[in-house]
Amino acid sequence: MNEYNQEELALFCPYCGESIRPLIDYSAGAQEYYEDCSVCCAPILFSLTDRGGDGALKVEVRRDDE
Ligand SMILES: [Zn+2]
Repeated sequence: MNEYNQEELALFCPYCGESIRPLIDYSAGAQEYYEDCSVCCAPILFSLTDRGGDGALKVEVRRDDE
């Protein structure tokens, strides 16, 4: 069993549109945090929300100014 549940996702930066591959730490549960885009250095808002039931988290990326 993998206690430290990290998963690499392919997402797109909401600022520059480049593909980014952030490491998401699912062990912390639902949360929001900022991480700078590795391409354009803009602060991307990562939103991890509970999908309910199975304990899986949904990952969304948003712009800070939306
Ligand atoms: Zn970017």
